[in-house]
Amino acid sequence: MAGVYVVVEHDQGQLAPSAGEALTAARRLSDHLNEPVIAVVIGEATTEFVSLCEEHGIPKAVSVLDPQIVDYGPELWGQAMAELFSLTEARVVMATGTDRGNEILAQASARAQIPFVANCINAEFSGAWELTRMQWGGSLLEDVTLDTSSLFISYAHHSVEAEPLAAASATQIESIEMNLDPVLCRSLVQDRVTLSEGTTLSTAAVVVSGGRGVGSAEGFASLEALAGLLSGKVGCSRAVTNNGWRSHADQVGQTGTRIAPDIYIACGISGAIQHWVGAMASKNILAINTDPEANMVTKAGYAVIADLHEVVPAIIAEIERRRGNSTST
Ligand SMILES: Cc1cc2nc3c(=O)[nH]c(=O)nc-3n(C[C@H](O)[C@H](O)[C@H](O)COP(=O)(O)OP(=O)(O)OC[C@H]3O[C@@H](n4cnc5c(N)ncnc54)[C@H](O)[C@@H]3O)c2cc1C
Repeated sequence: MAGVYVVVEHDQGQLAPSAGEALTAARRLSDHLNEPVIAVVIGEATTEFVSLCEEHGIPKAVSVLDPQIVDYGPELWGQAMAELFSLTEARVVMATGTDRGNEILAQASARAQIPFVANCINAEFSGAWELTRMQWGGSLLEDVTLDTSSLFISYAHHSVEAEPLAAASATQIESIEMNLDPVLCRSLVQDRVTLSEGTTLSTAAVVVSGGRGVGSAEGFASLEALAGLLSGKVGCSRAVTNNGWRSHADQVGQTGTRIAPDIYIACGISGAIQHWVGAMASKNILAINTDPEANMVTKAGYAVIADLHEVVPAIIAEIERRRGNSTST
């Protein structure tokens, strides 16, 4: 059955935070092409997966099964998607442009010999495909024209906001059994190291980040305190990880984590392009910097031009004062 097939990313059945984004982008493309959306899960269709499809009004989903699919493997999942593509004659195969989403589609497109355009922010078809995609970590937008009918597309992570429908509707699940070559299991996830539980830097609603201006590992204590008060996470720039003040898991940017919080509080960070591409999806930015000309200050919606070692403790004191007042009145 032709249509827009969208890979719903998961890790051992746990849906990725980007799963809703993928279904929203797929629904928009399906409206544009006037072709149905078919959600795809590689492995068993969990209750969580079915609920998400129902919230997005997806009438049909496919569960791709093979005894060898016991965990994530780029070759295995890529081959499964390539075979699904030829079995179904899909018009478009989509995923979110996360590391894993891009890896699956790169593998699948090479195997199916169909073009793959990664990290798109827009895709339209009128006789030929017209796409806009992010390059160089988001600092360059490239317009792509492709004279082909079928295509593999990933949408840049955070470029679409997940929008479930007001009313859920039932999703019918079809299982497709495959017989994949065991050689594809040569790269398979074997172990996991949990760096943080619960909210992560990429999913936090509030991120309080520090740069070289923080001055030392100890200087992050006030940023930790502020993040704690706001139920947020602490991030940092590469200058900080290079200095060994924080671990790489906290780094925001091109070679770190891409974030999209409701508010990003950037303390003593200049806003170099490699940092900015990881922070630019933030909905609001407060920059605290001594330099009024710093990139981060000019890009921020709010800025305080002062020493962060005075400003951060002052914000903490004010939050505590207001919370103290609100509990006493
Ligand atoms: C290939 C490549 C990949 C990279 N990837 C990343 C990445 O993923 N993430 C990343 O962050 N960087 C990355 N970088 C590095 C990036 O180019 C910058 O060097 C880095 O982001 C600078 O970090 P910073 O803003 O903390 O430091 P600086 O640029 O030195 O800025 C420090 C800022 O602190 C301010 N300041 C100083 N003292 C105070 C104070 N007391 N109070 C308030 N403000 C103060 C200064 O005015 C200044 O604006 C990458 C670079 C390359 C080449």
